[in-house]
Amino acid sequence: MRRPEPLEIFQPTSIREAGALVKEKGPGGRFLAGGTDLVIAVKEKSFSPKYVVDLKRIPGLSGIREEADGGLKIGSLTTLREVEISPIILKRFPFLAQSAAEVGSVQIRNRATIGGNMANATPSADVAPALLALEARARIAGLNGERVVELEQFFRGPGQTVMAPEEILTEIIIPPANPSLVGEYIKFSPREMMDLAYIGVAVAFVFNASQKLCEKVRIALGAVSPTPMRARGAESLLEGQVLTEELAEKAGAEAARECKPISDVRSSADYRRDMVRVNTKRALLNAAAQRPGKWTERRDRRY
Ligand SMILES: Cc1cc2nc3c(=O)[nH]c(=O)nc-3n(C[C@H](O)[C@H](O)[C@H](O)COP(=O)(O)OP(=O)(O)OC[C@H]3O[C@@H](n4cnc5c(N)ncnc54)[C@H](O)[C@@H]3O)c2cc1C
Repeated sequence: MRRPEPLEIFQPTSIREAGALVKEKGPGGRFLAGGTDLVIAVKEKSFSPKYVVDLKRIPGLSGIREEADGGLKIGSLTTLREVEISPIILKRFPFLAQSAAEVGSVQIRNRATIGGNMANATPSADVAPALLALEARARIAGLNGERVVELEQFFRGPGQTVMAPEEILTEIIIPPANPSLVGEYIKFSPREMMDLAYIGVAVAFVFNASQKLCEKVRIALGAVSPTPMRARGAESLLEGQVLTEELAEKAGAEAARECKPISDVRSSADYRRDMVRVNTKRALLNAAAQRPGKWTERRDRRY
């Protein structure tokens, strides 16, 4: 590990101050949240930001809030460990807690933030597919006020988002969900822990368990295109249908067809496609069979 050059670090106490600092100092700076991506880039990948603006002294950027309409707001500096163990998230969206639990180790999750996982815009970011399946939105604040964008529109490419350099991701907004929503996240990575996803699949749908009917089906994939993506063709095959093993198989094949994986050091594109096929089917069937809040028991049966 290379000894990094000394860095100029600022610790603003408001979003306005943080944005103004970036405006004043010019291009080449970076915001700092948990540092689990940024510090590695500086120490191991020879990345030299011109300056760093630490967001952690800005009040109000962390915490998980249930809204009166049933929606959920997660502050961008909320750690992935907080998402993993949050009673609200475990009750409402256990597969989102599960996706956070898949990141690195508990030490990493104690520092890594949900905002950093999105803002870093790695195609394999584990929390992104679960949030896409929940149709989450991102609240972004800048010097000229706030805007809210669909998370699906937030990612522009590997390492790229719609945010301008002085803009800060302040919160993730999860819209109200039907109480019969079920879901699942599967991270496929042959090593049990501490590896990035070869592929990730999140599914969420409103399930009438007695009739096995699926509605509002959302399927999102990670690590198989330049940005986390929805598999809309697979979703439409299932919409309003009775879920059978055969239909789940067809949806898996369709998701495999519509994703756009690359070959790299972890896996060939063909293998990734096949893992999307198998794990989309598995995620759909797991979600339909799930007992709420028991995902930790199912985790051992992931592969
Ligand atoms: C050993 C190890 C294992 C890992 N394993 C996984 C894994 O399995 N799965 C996975 O998905 N990730 C993994 N990661 C990556 C990392 O932990 C996550 O992406 C994490 O969520 C990043 O959050 P952070 O708060 O540490 O971001 P930081 O490193 O602080 O920031 C990352 C980037 O986002 C920008 N940024 C951060 N917050 C904001 C904000 N609020 N507004 C605007 N820009 C912002 C920063 O400027 C920087 O460019 C791993 C990392 C390590 C070191």
